[in-house]
Amino acid sequence: MSRFWSTLVNKLTPYVPGEQPKLTSLVKLNTNENPYAPSPKVLQAMQAELADTLRLYPDPNGDHLKATIAKYHGVDKSQVFLGNGSDEVLAHAFAALLQHDAPLLFPDISYSFYPVYCGLFGVDYRQVPLDAEFAICVEDYDQHCGAIIFPNPNAPTAKLLPLAAVESLLQRHPEQVVLVDEAYIDFGGESAIGLVDHYPNLLVVQTLSKSRSLAGLRVGFAIGHADLIEALERVKNSFNSYPLDKVALAGAAASFGDEAYFQEKCQVIIATREQLSSQMRDLGFEVLPSAANFIFARHPQHDAAQLAAALRKHSIIVRHFKQDRIEQFLRISIGTDAECKLLVDALHKLLSV
Ligand SMILES: *Cc1c(COP(=O)(O)O)cnc(C)c1O
Repeated sequence: MSRFWSTLVNKLTPYVPGEQPKLTSLVKLNTNENPYAPSPKVLQAMQAELADTLRLYPDPNGDHLKATIAKYHGVDKSQVFLGNGSDEVLAHAFAALLQHDAPLLFPDISYSFYPVYCGLFGVDYRQVPLDAEFAICVEDYDQHCGAIIFPNPNAPTAKLLPLAAVESLLQRHPEQVVLVDEAYIDFGGESAIGLVDHYPNLLVVQTLSKSRSLAGLRVGFAIGHADLIEALERVKNSFNSYPLDKVALAGAAASFGDEAYFQEKCQVIIATREQLSSQMRDLGFEVLPSAANFIFARHPQHDAAQLAAALRKHSIIVRHFKQDRIEQFLRISIGTDAECKLLVDALHKLLSV
């Protein structure tokens, strides 16, 4: 609190991101980054931008990247919005599309940035409990609301809501925007992008941070009806005309040009995830079925916070949330096979003492 701060700032509770340690020797399984490098074609395209043309502003509309994403996903360019990471896309969506008189609905266990944006943009919200198996139950959203947002697969549970259930939600709320945050959809889910031409209330948000190994570049996008995109553009152009720099625009576009690399790395991560899940189950963990690049697991005999602290002593960092219903879970990002082996070996030691 400070008397110099605005009333708004005095009331904010900011988001706390997972640790980015300065020590590079740690096995970092805490923020769902991709363990593999970006495609060499992405790095080449970015290097080509490091030239005297950096004195010029980037394209404020990111036309080339928009066209690339539109073509990749089979939509019109007017249905694509770009942002500095999908967090920025989400922020603009809260201001442009999710703020109404009736409350915004999202799951009680979900991306913890949503309530933070509600605080920043003055959005009234209600959290809808996941069922006993940590699944989203679409019938539970049959209530008075202004809009709906949820991650699919959900974070931090890693659970996928089948596309038919997403469609049912869209049909149940024709007058409300339904925002599907697909940060992890490339690790085994089916995207709702194919539904945007049938549902003018659907906005799908994706990121290049996870499946495309570009968390450091900060590129995210939304796909929806041109009318929803225009609302986002209005907010963006009232805030920052150049959210994406030249290097980011070039690298992001190149990523969609290397489909083989993208598919290969996603498949490797999925295979590692399945192997790690089964090894953790053998160690006595309950592991929720994951369609993401992380798993959510608890051990019936071992306290999650203590396990996380003990793993850290073995130079392995995982994420633990001090939150109702999930305080006994650990969220573990899928690393390389070698990193996951270090984790399993450390757990073997910790659980047998
Ligand atoms: C990682 C993540 C994001 C943010 O991704 P950026 O594009 O890096 O900002 C958004 N939503 C969910 C659910 C995430 O896990």
